[in-house]
Amino acid sequence: MTVRYDAVVIGGGLLGGALSWMLAGEGASVLLLEKDQLNQHASGQNAGSLHFQLEYRMVENGWESARTAAAAMPLHLHAAEAWTRLGDELGESVGVVQRGGFMLAETAEQVAVLERKVGLEQEWGLDVSLLDGDESRRVAPYLSDSVVAAAYCPLEGKAETRIAGPALVRGAVRRGAHVRTHTRVTALERDAGGWRVTARGPEGELHVHATTVMIAAGVWTTEVGEIAGAQLPTIPLALMMSVTAPTAPFIDHLVQHAGTKLSLKQTKEGTVLIGGGWPAALGRRAGAPDLEVRPRLLAESIVGNARAAIGVVPGTARLPVVRSWAGTTTITPDQLPLVGRCRGARDVRGHRGSAFTLGPSFARALCDLAAGRAPQVDLRPYAPDRFGVMA
Ligand SMILES: Cc1cc2nc3c(=O)[nH]c(=O)nc-3n(C[C@H](O)[C@H](O)[C@H](O)COP(=O)(O)OP(=O)(O)OC[C@H]3O[C@@H](n4cnc5c(N)ncnc54)[C@H](O)[C@@H]3O)c2cc1C
Repeated sequence: MTVRYDAVVIGGGLLGGALSWMLAGEGASVLLLEKDQLNQHASGQNAGSLHFQLEYRMVENGWESARTAAAAMPLHLHAAEAWTRLGDELGESVGVVQRGGFMLAETAEQVAVLERKVGLEQEWGLDVSLLDGDESRRVAPYLSDSVVAAAYCPLEGKAETRIAGPALVRGAVRRGAHVRTHTRVTALERDAGGWRVTARGPEGELHVHATTVMIAAGVWTTEVGEIAGAQLPTIPLALMMSVTAPTAPFIDHLVQHAGTKLSLKQTKEGTVLIGGGWPAALGRRAGAPDLEVRPRLLAESIVGNARAAIGVVPGTARLPVVRSWAGTTTITPDQLPLVGRCRGARDVRGHRGSAFTLGPSFARALCDLAAGRAPQVDLRPYAPDRFGVMA
């Protein structure tokens, strides 16, 4: 028997949760399908940074790639507001704290990067300013004397990765959405009225007809794109994080660095979360990345990440690291999101490396498209078919 829904959402991470909640809020009948558990993958493993400045990985490869990455700024501006409102709109907290974020410089070369970066971000309308070392330490006394400048964005902060995704799914269920976990989408076929979706779950094969299919499959986006006949190139990246023992509150902000991989923040429990893109080793099978296994931690990354943290926030040196872990995320070849409709189909989707920060913006834009409205943000630079078209 085939069941009918207005929308099938593939993937129960932050993006799938946000999409389901928003679509159900527009009166659509929604089925969320998740092959594992909700929030089990990147959305539940990440650093929870809400970063609206360009990240280190966007400025480390030179000015041209920074300029290209900056084309995602309209989504960042939208996300900054969306996260502020999210808890109230949802009716439960998602742990958002926006007390500002720093990107630090310790050398003249890094100061030059920050100057150009801040100028570019200001052109796009981001509230960001350049402080010297003393000004930075007045706002953030925990910073080391080695900091000679910082780009400061008052909108930046953090959200709780363990609760944000599940809270969105709960919100979707309150609005009438249906959710099936341990149910993997295995086939997507187009017909005149939309899509025939086949999925395999604990009760066997499920057949669904949906007017719209939303792909929110994270690192499996390319794989799900293939079963839909769409080329959606993504590059898997295995990353690691560490968390320290708790201590009294001393870090109010999100801290990043212009010259090395670093993100750092203190949680409400007092632990310090340290990440920023240090690599882990992707699992491999027959020479190809195996996305089903947890990546392996690398000792040199744990040490390098801790050293970067201690260098700019010396107070972290006395805190023992109690746990390190690895997860897998994706970026696209041009580091811009894939958000929009795949040509020739009512199939809309979105994904890229910072899809936690940008998840609410992706979801809003995709819901607008599904409802036939013009999205608030011009999606043309993020068109999924810029790398290829539907087969
Ligand atoms: C260590 C680490 C730190 C990070 N730090 C940050 C950060 O600080 N800030 C930030 O903005 N971003 C960060 N990221 C990136 C961020 O976590 C991801 O971009 C984001 O969580 C992606 O959300 P998603 O919902 O698109 O994907 P996911 O959370 O990966 O969810 C996708 C879901 O789709 C399901 N799925 C896949 N295929 C199928 C199928 N065929 N059928 C059914 N279900 C399927 C998967 O099981 C998965 O649960 C980090 C990532 C990592 C790994």
